[in-house]
Amino acid sequence: MSAQLISGVDLSRQMRQRIKEQTALLQTKGVTPGLAVILVGEDPASQVYVRNKVKACEEVGFHSRLERHPAQLSEAELLERVAALNGDPGTHGILVQLPLPAHLNAQRVIEAISPDKDVDGFHVSSAGALMTGLPGFWPCTPHGCMKMLESIGYKLRGRHAVVIGRSNIVGKPMAMMLLQQDATVTLCHSATQDLASHVRQADVVVSAVGRRNVVTADMVKPGAVVIDVGMNRDDQGKLCGDVDFEGVRQVASYITPVPGGVGPMTITMLLDNTLQAAQRSLS
Ligand code: NAP
Repeated sequence: MSAQLISGVDLSRQMRQRIKEQTALLQTKGVTPGLAVILVGEDPASQVYVRNKVKACEEVGFHSRLERHPAQLSEAELLERVAALNGDPGTHGILVQLPLPAHLNAQRVIEAISPDKDVDGFHVSSAGALMTGLPGFWPCTPHGCMKMLESIGYKLRGRHAVVIGRSNIVGKPMAMMLLQQDATVTLCHSATQDLASHVRQADVVVSAVGRRNVVTADMVKPGAVVIDVGMNRDDQGKLCGDVDFEGVRQVASYITPVPGGVGPMTITMLLDNTLQAAQRSLS
């Protein structure tokens, strides 16, 4: 058996086309979705991420604004910038690229973003809304994983989903989203004993650890769906996920590749959240 690929590239292309069409419609009502991206410092990976986000915005017709600040920016100055963007009617979404330099308190900065513009979905009120099933912005990476499951028509009700990793931006919200769709969810982390025994029971596995070969073929139930969020480098320096892709694809029914899987979906869901924020600004 060889698993079918769930391509984040193809799904993103379709979704971004729809976002582009809805943006054009919104523009006829006088609103162009606007995303402001704040980058503090020179972290090379962050520079690539923000460039990709700004480019994706331009491709669907959004207005995007990239604010670059030196690493020495004070927290008070950063909070002032966030406050100014909160008050700017042309900015519907605000994203502060993480990680921030060590002297800045990331959680305090995120809490300063207006929940109406929290398109990353990291604000406590967004997290609380997800937890309680109220409307709010969902964090982009796990939301992208849900869209990938939806794209194959997968019905989560009554299925056992095992999420590996419990970060606030991926693992925990992923578990909440799966729970909302009536899956039975197991959330594993670094203190989990016998990870393999949990993963072996899973109909759906989502790995968000950041370490190669966390999930190998012997751990996967035949026919399971495997979503790989991890981003790592192999011995040749090539991008790879947490999952032993070549081994696991022989056992799973569906699998997401790295690259070309969850990564593009994360940016697509950021666009989707920004479009929603702009649409809500009309009501
Ligand atoms: P993180 O904050 O470092 O969290 C990693 C999680 O993995 C933690 O909960 C940790 O447990 C758990 N863990 C570590 N070792 C483990 C082990 N041996 N067994 C089970 N669990 C273990 O990372 P993150 O921000 O969630 O990101 C996870 C990965 O996804 C990274 O590779 C990141 O680059 C990638 N990512 C990709 C995208 C994308 O768009 N494709 C977006 C976001 C993140 P503890 O809580 O106990 O420490």
